[in-house]
Amino acid sequence: MSNNKSGLLFVLSGPSGAGKGTVMTKLLKTEPLELSISATTRQPRPEDEEGVSYFFKSREEFERMIENNELFEYAMFSGNYYGTPRQYVIDRINAGKDVMLEIEVQGALQVKTSVPEAVLIFLMPKTLKELRARLEGRGTESPEQIEKRLSRAAEEVEYISAYDYIVINDSVEDTVEKLKAIISSEKAKAINNRNIINKFKGEI
Ligand code: 5GP
Repeated sequence: MSNNKSGLLFVLSGPSGAGKGTVMTKLLKTEPLELSISATTRQPRPEDEEGVSYFFKSREEFERMIENNELFEYAMFSGNYYGTPRQYVIDRINAGKDVMLEIEVQGALQVKTSVPEAVLIFLMPKTLKELRARLEGRGTESPEQIEKRLSRAAEEVEYISAYDYIVINDSVEDTVEKLKAIISSEKAKAINNRNIINKFKGEI
């Protein structure tokens, strides 16, 4: 079979504390997805590792990346810049790899505009109460930051209709299974398999 097929672009969003990180770590153990590493101006948390969780940048460095058109999308979230380095995404997709972006809604909408075939998935907690409990439980944000993130969560919900899929994170295992089902359905779409169609046509 021809191997010149482009990879698919997936975007996972969801309020801070919805469990994106946990779900993604589990998903990446079995799915051959390439997770894009974002650039950010936020301060590293104790568990963060440069070049693994994020590329940590100063504001000046980030703004230079914007000016040089090095970002595929970017947004301001809770007072910090976050953005996806463009070249990595292009290289991996062109190499036929499926890429996952874990980004907030403004960035996701930019992706949908520039790549309409991108698959947007929104991960929801069961309730806002649960979200608060998770944010407080992980203890990585100040009470003020938690309030900021909760009001941002309420705003993000307004944009859900722009997404292709909504997944309620009731248990990590179920959520991972649902994400796998979405990925395999998208990969099976006829529109994403023109090479197979052309191969059959060539054999007739
Ligand atoms: P955190 O500070 O908790 O790591 O991330 C805060 C928010 O920024 C999360 O909703 C996360 O998905 C989002 N985010 C992370 N990287 C990017 C990015 O490259 N672009 C955009 N638009 N959002 C991002």
